[in-house]
Amino acid sequence: MNYYDWMSDVKTCKNCGWVGLGSEAKIGECFNECAEYHCPQCEHYFEAVLYPSITENLIDSRANPADRLFAEIVMQKIVKH
Ligand SMILES: [Zn+2]
Repeated sequence: MNYYDWMSDVKTCKNCGWVGLGSEAKIGECFNECAEYHCPQCEHYFEAVLYPSITENLIDSRANPADRLFAEIVMQKIVKH
């Protein structure tokens, strides 16, 4: 499951019964390649989700414009060097 799939997927909290989208989940600790997500209501830990890759930002229509722009800049730099 990629980042955008996770964000648009419906999550259910086993602890308090909260139901919502992954994008509504509360972000917890952030690492270099992933971030941990928690229930916005009771802080119950869901899972660690990998950040979208450069390729996902370029090809996924759900990528936000800033992420896509960043991906394009990175790709241009890779192509030039
Ligand atoms: Zn909860």
